[in-house]
Amino acid sequence: MDATKHRSLHETSVEQFQRAAQLIDLPAHHRAILSEPQNEVIVNFPVRLDTGTWRMFRGYRIQHSSTLGPYKGGLRFHPDVDLDEVKALAAWMTFKTALVGIPYGGAKGGVTINPKNYSEGELERIVRRFTAALGSNIGPNHDIPAPDVGTNAQMMDWIMDTYATIAGPTNRQVVRGVVTGKSIAVGGSAGREAATGQGVLYALRHWCGETGTRLDSLRVGVQGFGNVGSHFARLAAEAGCAVTHVADHTATLTNPKGLDIDAMRAYSSENGGIKGFPDATEIDTEDLFSAEVDVFVPAALENQLVKERCEALKCQIVLEAANGPTTPEGELVLARRGIDVVPDIMANAGGVVVSYFEWLQNKSHEIWSESQVDEKLRDVMWAAMDKLLAARKTYGCSRRDAAYVVALTRLSDTYDARGIWP
Ligand code: NAD
Repeated sequence: MDATKHRSLHETSVEQFQRAAQLIDLPAHHRAILSEPQNEVIVNFPVRLDTGTWRMFRGYRIQHSSTLGPYKGGLRFHPDVDLDEVKALAAWMTFKTALVGIPYGGAKGGVTINPKNYSEGELERIVRRFTAALGSNIGPNHDIPAPDVGTNAQMMDWIMDTYATIAGPTNRQVVRGVVTGKSIAVGGSAGREAATGQGVLYALRHWCGETGTRLDSLRVGVQGFGNVGSHFARLAAEAGCAVTHVADHTATLTNPKGLDIDAMRAYSSENGGIKGFPDATEIDTEDLFSAEVDVFVPAALENQLVKERCEALKCQIVLEAANGPTTPEGELVLARRGIDVVPDIMANAGGVVVSYFEWLQNKSHEIWSESQVDEKLRDVMWAAMDKLLAARKTYGCSRRDAAYVVALTRLSDTYDARGIWP
């Protein structure tokens, strides 16, 4: 394995945009601004556990850029959450929203915690106390969190309810948009839960059109069976792909004829993971990376595609559903081996795009149907992928560099127009 566990994720994110900045000769002061987040909020807060004892928790909200609009990005609950990770994830949000052309900046947050170790009541108290600790650092016109690894619609509902309660009776109704990814009952959008997976499938469809590949001829392997991985796998199977390999933190399973994804989703939510799912063979974790698939979709955590695993991959394309799944060393291997990579800031943008739709619906008190949401999502994803391809042609670069070229051009034009105060 390469030593990426010890490498700074934030440094990786800076290196990625600097490569594209070089291509378009981005002014030095724009590079300097984008190399660091605008604000780093760290809160420590106490919560009473079911045992009656108290524990201190550490939470983060990193606001990378508000140049194009309010800060926007998910909240992660995971034991590995730290400042370096959240800084990188926040920067990727800035480039993602700029790439797909929605009026948001970039942010990310999280709590260093394994949510599986806490009861529902404890999690509710942690989420509510974290929201109160963040206070006016979040807000519907300022910074708008959403779900990410280890968080879900229920937690977003608690954030909204806590924020609205603190906002007071006259503001209670206008602050619903403080968070997206809520459940439909409290102002969430149809299609939000599946949106990131849906967007990954649109990216795959676009690639199929570009390369003349039939979508229903593809064998797919997916690492991660949470929100993003399981919805993508379900939608890919519905579109005729054979999803032959799926891994989560409990097991790696295969069925060469294609796994029954609907049944696997039901099994996983009942059993807390896919281990033991019938009609599938369990294989070694590392064997996932040498599986005979056409499409490999990392949809778990960062730094999974280290160079040795990239040497083993047999696929034609890596669709980065997770944020930062490929290490810089792994990326060099994929480039040498001619394996296409649709970068994270493009492939997984569907989540933030439908978050934007949820926010618009909250602001205008409208309710859009799932088909309206999906159609608008497809248009936004398609337009961004067309732009990415055009940039790739102009600069003769990788898809990742082309994605950054589009994003940086938008950010740089805005800095030029607004000027740097004073
Ligand atoms: P999740 O918590 O719902 O699911 C994570 C999944 O990864 C789980 O199935 C878990 O078992 C699995 N996993 C963890 N470690 C693993 C390992 N070592 N090997 C195999 N599987 C492992 O999280 P999610 O919301 O689906 O997010 C997944 C990725 O997608 C993250 O990188 C996240 O930042 C990114 N993302 C999420 C969204 C969103 O809307 N939720 C949007 C854009 C990007």
